[in-house]
Amino acid sequence: GYVCAIRAAQLGFRTACVEKRGTLGGTCLNVGCIPSKALLQSSHHYHMAAHEFANHGIKVDGLSVDLAAMMARKDKVVSGLTKGIEGLFKKNKVTYVVGAATLAGNGQVVVGDKTLSAKHIILATGSEVTPLPGVTIDEKRVVSSTGALALPEVPKHLVVIGAGVIGLELGSVYKRLGAQVTVVEFLDKALPFFDGEVSKQSQRLLEKQGLKFKLSTKVTGAQVGESGVTLTMEAVNGGAAETMEADYVLVAIGRRPYTEGLGLEAAGVALSPRGFVTIDGHFQTSAPGIYAIGDVVGGAMLAHKAEEEGVAIAEILAGQAGHVNYDAIPSVVYTWPEIAAVGLTEEAAKAKGLTVKVGKFPFMANSRARANEDSDGFVKLIADARTDEVLGCHIIGPAAGDLIAEVVLGMEYKAAAEDIARWRADWAEFMKQERVMFDRKSKNGPKPTNLRALVAEATLKNDGSVSLVLDWSTDYMSPQALVLAVNAPITPLAAHLLK
Ligand code: NAD
Repeated sequence: GYVCAIRAAQLGFRTACVEKRGTLGGTCLNVGCIPSKALLQSSHHYHMAAHEFANHGIKVDGLSVDLAAMMARKDKVVSGLTKGIEGLFKKNKVTYVVGAATLAGNGQVVVGDKTLSAKHIILATGSEVTPLPGVTIDEKRVVSSTGALALPEVPKHLVVIGAGVIGLELGSVYKRLGAQVTVVEFLDKALPFFDGEVSKQSQRLLEKQGLKFKLSTKVTGAQVGESGVTLTMEAVNGGAAETMEADYVLVAIGRRPYTEGLGLEAAGVALSPRGFVTIDGHFQTSAPGIYAIGDVVGGAMLAHKAEEEGVAIAEILAGQAGHVNYDAIPSVVYTWPEIAAVGLTEEAAKAKGLTVKVGKFPFMANSRARANEDSDGFVKLIADARTDEVLGCHIIGPAAGDLIAEVVLGMEYKAAAEDIARWRADWAEFMKQERVMFDRKSKNGPKPTNLRALVAEATLKNDGSVSLVLDWSTDYMSPQALVLAVNAPITPLAAHLLK
């Protein structure tokens, strides 16, 4: 919503954004992605210090966790960012209205005792936690992701219901901090919506870190006592009921659209049978002048997908060609190793009747991963066997969330698998040559570090080689130009672009 409001204001609309939380940024910033990532980073540092530093020859004595300090840092990250959005609203002249909005028909929105009138109304109310019958969330012992981001202590035994993104991320946080963590999942695998091989490998690697998985199991009830919770559960395909004790339970079985109190019915905004606001290809709801974006319309429940939609609708309303490419929206699970995906899984591509070829490469065979002591996982690329077009990429491994960006960019430009492979090879080749020249220059001087190079110019020569002009610099040297000939073959597409 805030991204949409800012874009609309930038495009010349007089814009107001109504928010009842009292802080901007929605679920992602306040009680979702950002606080999770803050805790994932802190707990990762602790895990590294406790278990990995020794491998690198670093000794740590007297290591301990100060959970209150960890939580305070997370809160500071969140408050800094929400205030940043308030600043962006001011800068872009978006009016921030604090309160709960109800649609009143005829382009009117009621917020407390105020009524706003608008030509265009955009709903971006997001989603809320899906409740689990028999398991009441009290945000104390039985928590949703919101409560799990602010536990007062590291649990002795945390039971997570749902082996999806939230379950594995927050389960990882508390496992790293010393909790015993059991993940109970209804289906027969963790991360069931990810590529099959990735899902299997993620479970294996998390089990290696100590998480326990109880698959094909449904939780039927939770009894909260003084110091913990007794869960009852049974196998999905029948079997005797069993109980499990936990001091905290995290319910993470998905999210559902949030439309409570919006007055949709009176305004004539139709919902799907599952409660999502229905829209056409241009975000238009069934009520003229009312549009909807983000989790409330369904699709991938990801903040960056919602932001794309927010920008697109603002541009469409301004008469521009706003567009979202739903085939190239990445998703990242911030466990360690990270898991990242874009496009079709192998299973989905085959189910669509496409003939695919699959390339897979393990991090075990990658020198940098080995040097970093981070060699678990693989990259899996799915391409159309007929056209070589990249259809999807699935990575489990170090920095997967960063690596996927290159494939997303490739997919935006309809890259072939060969384009991606050659780009890599050419880059490596060029870096090798560059290195030789570099070392020669630095023979008698201090050893330069942190080489940065930008291609300023590229020219295709008649003999098929490429001449590059690089702007390069290091910590010790100011920017300089370097002309370099690269003789590696290039793809027909690259040759065409260079011409
Ligand atoms: P999810 O859909 O990722 O996972 C829910 C899991 O719960 C699934 O594995 C499902 O099979 C299981 N489940 C459903 N009902 C169950 C039951 N009764 N008993 C046991 N298991 C059950 O949902 P989530 O983890 O709650 O996350 C919610 C949304 O937030 C997702 O759409 C997710 O993509 C998004 N999110 C994204 C990120 C990220 O991008 N890094 C992080 C957190 C959340």
